[in-house]
Amino acid sequence: MTSAEHKVVTTWKISCSGDLYVGVPKQLGTRQKITNQKNSTITIKNQTIYLNQQKWPHATIYLLPTEKAHISLDGQPYHGLFLITKYQGQFLLINYVELEDYVCSVLKTECWPNWPAESFKVSAIASRSYITAKILEARKHKDHPPYHASNTNKHQTYSGMHDCPKLRQAVEDTKGIIISYNKKPILAMFDCCCGGIIPAHMSEVDFIAAPYLKRTYPCNYCSSWKYYTWEAKFSVAKFKENIQKEFPQIKNISHIQLKKDRAGIVHLVTIKDGNKVYKLKGKLLYKLFKEIKSFSFSVTKQADQVIVNGQGYGHHLGICQWGAYQMVKEGWQHKEILKFYFPGTQFMRIKQQSSEIN
Ligand SMILES: [Zn+2]
Repeated sequence: MTSAEHKVVTTWKISCSGDLYVGVPKQLGTRQKITNQKNSTITIKNQTIYLNQQKWPHATIYLLPTEKAHISLDGQPYHGLFLITKYQGQFLLINYVELEDYVCSVLKTECWPNWPAESFKVSAIASRSYITAKILEARKHKDHPPYHASNTNKHQTYSGMHDCPKLRQAVEDTKGIIISYNKKPILAMFDCCCGGIIPAHMSEVDFIAAPYLKRTYPCNYCSSWKYYTWEAKFSVAKFKENIQKEFPQIKNISHIQLKKDRAGIVHLVTIKDGNKVYKLKGKLLYKLFKEIKSFSFSVTKQADQVIVNGQGYGHHLGICQWGAYQMVKEGWQHKEILKFYFPGTQFMRIKQQSSEIN
């Protein structure tokens, strides 16, 4: 069987700061040292792995550096080791990394580098809690993919090693600490700026599954940030052009109506074109316009303009990063901040996870 995906050729340039070994999990005899560890390639072509243009006779391969050495993929160094394996017909590149190294890497892409140390501790504990919850979730499901989290913002953005000592220090200072609810790690999510929205008033959040997101009081600590409230203006023609990506048949926008919940989150957008009515979800409108920064907004049509006024930047749940930043400046400690954003939670210390392939 062939498909477009199978025809795609993927190549990774690999180098290692020390000796590099390749092999197949559970087959010690396959383990071999790579001689050109500074300049190797792995290619996936026609459902086959090639190591330095030579066909690899297995469907999986691991890349293992010697102690204290690091593997670089396409010039970016990573902690830990790599496994390339097939899952549901596709090859996956999986990085096995120690928990604390992972948290340190995530901080680099999810934090503002010039912020005070206390705010990095907030993020370190949140990130560690999130990934620990993901690991436990994966262990519960036998048909779970052979990894715990993707490297994109679907879970937490992860892009390998960095050498920022301030972030490493925050990870060290909070080592093993997670936030828990009923003695279980929480999916401690965060966004940029909550815009003063009260999460408990949001109607489409499963607060039974995630009671720690049900904050009943506002965070106004982010109110001085530029996107606490925002405005985006479009010509009616431009607005229509974006809507046509979803409804190509729409010709004229005569009326726009929103349905919101008590928190101000837009759930339904109704657009009238004469007698015709088009309905789309609020989150879809957010996706169609990069100028729409959050899920809470109002839309006004005035003559040949559409004006969108909104609150906050992101999904309004969990930690408000700009709020937490302001709280640190006002003297709050990282644990107090986390308890503010995740009501009813406690702190726990976990044992370190092994990154062995098994
Ligand atoms: Zn806020």
